Amino acid sequence: MLEQAQRVLKDIFGYDSFRGRQAAIIECVANGGDALVLMPTGGGKSLCFQVPGLLRQGLTVVVSPLIALMDDQVATLDELGVAAAALNSTLSNEQQRELAGRLRRGEVKMLYLAPERLVQPRMLDFLRTLDIALFAIDEAHCVSQWGHDFRPEYLQLGQLAELFPQVPRIALTATADMRTREEIVQRLHLQGAERFLSSFDRPNIFYRIVPKEQPRKQLLAFLAERRGNAGIVYCLSRKKVDETAAFLCAQGFPALPYHAGLAAETRAANQHRFLNEEGLIMVATIAFGMGIDKPNVRYVAHLDLPKSLEAYYQETGRGGRDGLPADAWMAYGLQDMVMLKQMLQNSEGDERHKRVEQHKLDAMLALCEETRCRRQSLLAYFDEVLEQPCGHCDNCVDQVQTWDATEPARQALSAIYRTGQRYGVGHLIDVLLGKDTDKVRNFGHQKLAVFGVGKALSESEWRSLFRQLVARGLVDIDLEGYGGLRLSGSCRPLLRGEVNLQLRRDLKPQTTARSSGSGGSPASQLVRGDEREQWDALRALRRKLAEEHSVPPYVIFPDSTLLEMLRSQPTSLSEMATVGGVGARKLERYGQAFLEVLNGGATDEAPKAVVDIRHELVSLARAGMTPLQIAGQLKCSEKNVYSLLAESLGRQELSLDQALDLPEDLMMEIQDAFLDGEGELPPVSAISEQFAQRVPEGVLYCIRAALAAEFEL
Ligand code: ADP
Ligand code: ZN
Repeated sequence: MLEQAQRVLKDIFGYDSFRGRQAAIIECVANGGDALVLMPTGGGKSLCFQVPGLLRQGLTVVVSPLIALMDDQVATLDELGVAAAALNSTLSNEQQRELAGRLRRGEVKMLYLAPERLVQPRMLDFLRTLDIALFAIDEAHCVSQWGHDFRPEYLQLGQLAELFPQVPRIALTATADMRTREEIVQRLHLQGAERFLSSFDRPNIFYRIVPKEQPRKQLLAFLAERRGNAGIVYCLSRKKVDETAAFLCAQGFPALPYHAGLAAETRAANQHRFLNEEGLIMVATIAFGMGIDKPNVRYVAHLDLPKSLEAYYQETGRGGRDGLPADAWMAYGLQDMVMLKQMLQNSEGDERHKRVEQHKLDAMLALCEETRCRRQSLLAYFDEVLEQPCGHCDNCVDQVQTWDATEPARQALSAIYRTGQRYGVGHLIDVLLGKDTDKVRNFGHQKLAVFGVGKALSESEWRSLFRQLVARGLVDIDLEGYGGLRLSGSCRPLLRGEVNLQLRRDLKPQTTARSSGSGGSPASQLVRGDEREQWDALRALRRKLAEEHSVPPYVIFPDSTLLEMLRSQPTSLSEMATVGGVGARKLERYGQAFLEVLNGGATDEAPKAVVDIRHELVSLARAGMTPLQIAGQLKCSEKNVYSLLAESLGRQELSLDQALDLPEDLMMEIQDAFLDGEGELPPVSAISEQFAQRVPEGVLYCIRAALAAEFEL
């Protein structure tokens, strides 16, 4: 079974090996078992049902919540040469009837549809008349009322277990928490399913969180290093989205806004452009995200703090789905905390709910002020242990320093207390620094004992300190009033001198182009300067092909494939076939065009040496091309191809399955005909009449050559 799966992986998808738990999952499902798959975004969930779907007989039904997502997957499968279709409300009645006909005739291998569609009684009745290979339930966390993507229609999917007891089901999600997991099992009746839990680490994402000083300047510096790459910039409010997008455009960055306040057409148009064009920046509220499958989002920037680590993980996780390097960057400051705490205070819901939300926010703040590895801390929140610091986050590469802030912290607390626990950070810092302002004089604060005691620290150091005091809950923000600071109960031990306080030393905020910290280029800058020209040419060709086929560019080839082409510089189709992501179909369609770009536009028409042709033929056959296709590719006759194939079979460079494109029973029949006699293998002429109308004679030569080699006759 696994061998066949491997073959499908290479021939159809063009990949050499399975990733993580894919092989185990595919084996389980292909053998008719149920599976629950928890895998992070970009982990490769699609293959987990697409491969078994291709291995099993009949139709694979994929339940997916979003039309945009379905269309994307159908287009991708189409390009791979797999018969796929989506059944959704965008189809006319006529188109639906036509699709039903194709389904009845068994012409479709994979059908995508929304849950509400699937559970219509008529639909279920119809499906029961078909041969169903597999049900795949994507985004299975939508069944959970606890999560934020709850879709009531998902609740009805449980009945598939009773209606189709013989059909295996696989549920997939990138949502990790235990509660959601159990809810999926319960509601989808997957008690018997094997569970496949992957690590939720996203090793290709580089995490960086910086103190917010001049956010726009900081953002520009971050983006300047990533020109030409696509990314998402998240903001909390619609207004800020609009302003930031306009600001970026004015600064020469191609940015689009996206939030729930925009007209539906504008939203759809902007999303479409983001998916189909390259290098665009989407400035968005959290309304943008779910169902964005764009694999080459190279960075996710947060100008505002998410309200939980769950949200942060999910939003940053939209970067780097293709497994190539991506950046998660966030600027965060005291004002963010004030804003979120205020929102929480004013939100609906009971006290218990607010307490839960408060805890989530606290965990988010703790990550911001974390001095150890960010990834270790993030994964720990999801109950996963990362043994070693990751070496791929700001804290790891910058080696964050801590300092003993006990004494300044007590000065700060004292300043809050002496001024009556009602002033904001700005005024408190003025007092500590001994500044002669109107406000200071109006309230007589120059007479306080704390006035001017804090001159050892700079203003920004004081800001950092206050921010960390709030984040650690040593100081509260007065949310009813004007955001003044108050002492909280938990600061007493510090005031009494019973504990010491170690704080994070903020790095100087960098607003110049060199902001990546590690000194080198940003994680998400994929290509070197000297590769740029060819990279752009490859992308230009991809864009052109994408337009011709009306699909997003990554459906033609993902960035990872283009990058591998760039690095491995194939010079022939056979070498091209070894590039990850170049399956038989795509090799046939696009291989030559990309070769020409790589080889400087020179067409490859010089007469090939015979040796070269043989070599190429073997590669093409291994990649899954039929003899007819190979003949077209090598521009020689079919007969010629068969005789070359026979030679290769004789040397056992190929298996019969690779060389020929025959139904299994016919292949058996021909082999039997050869083996019927005793001892000697009969010549082709002895049986050629028997198969004359059914296969080209070349096929017989091939089979004979293979048998001869196998039995050493
Ligand atoms: P998910 O749905 O889990 O977010 P996808 O199924 O979209 O992830 O896969 C992410 C990317 O990884 C896709 O571009 C896919 O083609 C690629 N991929 C998946 N499995 C493999 C593999 N075994 N080898 C190489 N690339 C893979
Ligand atoms: Zn780290």
